[in-house]
Amino acid sequence: MNYNNYVSTDLICPKCGNITTIYRRKGRQKKASHLKYLYCYNCREIINHYEVKDIDTFLLTYNKHDNTQKDLVNLVLSRRKK
Ligand SMILES: [Zn+2]
Repeated sequence: MNYNNYVSTDLICPKCGNITTIYRRKGRQKKASHLKYLYCYNCREIINHYEVKDIDTFLLTYNKHDNTQKDLVNLVLSRRKK
């Protein structure tokens, strides 16, 4: 795989807060908050993940008035503390 043609994007499992990174071909990126069904290794099931592109940027810049994003941030942070 030629990584020059791909960009990484992070997706959050809305059930457990686990982050999965996938690669998308350049020019075919989805916008943030795109939903994608992915297998979560933690939950052991296919879950509709929430795409945030870069998790660290998302944690700093998420929309605090968006309850979905707020819940996701809380999940991710509580998972990181463990
Ligand atoms: Zn999960």
